[in-house]
Amino acid sequence: MAKTIKFSLDGRHLSALEGETVLEAAERSGVRIPHYCWHKALGNPGNCRMCVVEVEGTTKLQVSCRLLAREGLVIRSVTSAARRAQASALELHLLDHPLDCPVCDQSGECGLQDYYMDIGRYPSAMREDKAHAGKSIPLGPHIMLDQERCIMCTRCTRFTSQVSKSHELGIFGRGHSQVVDVVPGRTLDNPYSGNLADVCPVGALTDRDFRFQVRVWYLDETESVCPGCSRGCAIFAHTSTRRPWHNKGRRLARLKPRYDSDVNGHWMCDAGRYGFADFDSDRLGKVMRLKPAAAELSWEAAQREVAAALRRKSAEGLAVVASGALSNEDWKAFKSLFVDTLKASRFLFSPEPDQVGVEDELLRRREKVPNLEGGKTLGFGTQIQSMSWDGLAKDIGAGKVWGLYVVDRDPVKVWGEKGRKLLERLDLLVYQGPCKGLSGDLAHYRLPAAAWLEEEGHFINFQGHVQGYRQALKPLGAAKPDWEIFAGMEKDARV
Ligand code: SF4
Ligand code: SF4
Repeated sequence: MAKTIKFSLDGRHLSALEGETVLEAAERSGVRIPHYCWHKALGNPGNCRMCVVEVEGTTKLQVSCRLLAREGLVIRSVTSAARRAQASALELHLLDHPLDCPVCDQSGECGLQDYYMDIGRYPSAMREDKAHAGKSIPLGPHIMLDQERCIMCTRCTRFTSQVSKSHELGIFGRGHSQVVDVVPGRTLDNPYSGNLADVCPVGALTDRDFRFQVRVWYLDETESVCPGCSRGCAIFAHTSTRRPWHNKGRRLARLKPRYDSDVNGHWMCDAGRYGFADFDSDRLGKVMRLKPAAAELSWEAAQREVAAALRRKSAEGLAVVASGALSNEDWKAFKSLFVDTLKASRFLFSPEPDQVGVEDELLRRREKVPNLEGGKTLGFGTQIQSMSWDGLAKDIGAGKVWGLYVVDRDPVKVWGEKGRKLLERLDLLVYQGPCKGLSGDLAHYRLPAAAWLEEEGHFINFQGHVQGYRQALKPLGAAKPDWEIFAGMEKDARV
């Protein structure tokens, strides 16, 4: 076990693990020393000179990101000498920085703004014209560069060399003309590029999807879990239903990684981050009977009718398609309805072909659904085996299946035109999900389900970590969480 070291910072007694720097130990204890270039996952080049502190018994100020904590060390970061040095470093960073704050997306969460208000507040001594450099340079599909705003902290180049290992970014030029840019002939399109907007402490690297959409002070932050693959990265969902953003019809503004040392560290992948930009499109909001006579129904009426229809013929010909996107709570109610009560004979819960993707050493997993493990704990995948998509198509084609209940899957997307014909042969098709997809219009009953940000629940990731996610938004229209729909239907199916 690492040895614990005790030291004092601004009169507080802190402890550090052996080998930790003063800045690292302070951050871990929630004590803020100003800094730009240090990042827990990217190292400490010590080039921004913002984290200078006084050390009792020495005459010179020292950068705390390179100062190893030692037993009995007495550090002060808020003395007039330390503050003067921090403010001077800040003044140097701001010397050529453009006055973009009113139009900059970083505004409200910018390290320059925050430290200027905390330790700066000096009148500018700059009388000369500021140096100019490139503005609004698209580096790749997700990141925009503004060279004028860069403070040369090098976090971005360290990210591409140490984390994504894609090496697209470099520092070019010397002195006054030094800029960050992509290596000639390259594009910043690695699968983790969105993290660059997070690591850049100023507005030099911004997220193209988020740019000019909403000011950060209109955002609400909710702890969530990415449902993009079985890693289940810890994330924050930033949502806004306030004007003027909501008028654009989009409630989810952005997803950002939330630090979890056991699951995703500081990062998330671009597929997870940008896979939900169209969260509110194609959404279902009404409970509908579409066939034989189309009508909007109350939940009570729909549950009664669907429960009766599911029991009309033998359970032998009843098939259910669900997905590993169900939460633990959904899986439990799903099992209770379809296995224990209705005793359906055919289940399909393995991922659709396009839900099997690329895997890498950093985060991405092959299964593009978050909770197959949750299903396994209830026997789905062990005692209850999943059919294949081909097997189900064959059974419907052979007339062995009369009823199909689809939960958040899209058979027409998997089977193509042939799928339409197969679904039209069924005596009963119930479609439940947040979005209509290609199969929704073919159903006898279409039930709107809440999306993951509209409910709370738990996923179990591939490592066995149980992770809770919270509700960030109200369900659209009449949508309800899947477990609530199953539980309501079960009452009627039992009768
Ligand atoms: S672009 Fe941002 S992260 Fe990169 S060196 Fe400049 S300030 Fe630092
Ligand atoms: S690695 Fe998987 S869970 Fe993590 S952000 Fe990407 S898609 Fe989401």
